[in-house]
Amino acid sequence: MAKKPTIGHVECTVCGFPDAHVKEDKNGHAYIHCADNCQAQTFTRNDFRNSKLRERMRAVTVTVTDDTVTVTAPEPAPATAPPPAIDKVPPVKKPGGWLQPLLAKG
Ligand SMILES: [Zn+2]
Repeated sequence: MAKKPTIGHVECTVCGFPDAHVKEDKNGHAYIHCADNCQAQTFTRNDFRNSKLRERMRAVTVTVTDDTVTVTAPEPAPATAPPPAIDKVPPVKKPGGWLQPLLAKG
């Protein structure tokens, strides 16, 4: 059986966990599944309670703009910022380097 997609997040009615998942049952009614904490499931089972839950939940939305994908979900986004550029100054090399004094003595 395919895993149901999370359509939003809401505070768990049982334990108060702030990011309980909101999913749809086979009839298209939203229900709460506290998948990350107490595992409680709260079903709406009719259109009235379904609409009330959908009003309360924070919907999961995915926005794609060029190469940037913004997901408004609890999952942390991977850091993509490059490290700050450092001006590289090559070391000044003297002809002969450390060997030069020895050669000069010879
Ligand atoms: Zn809970």
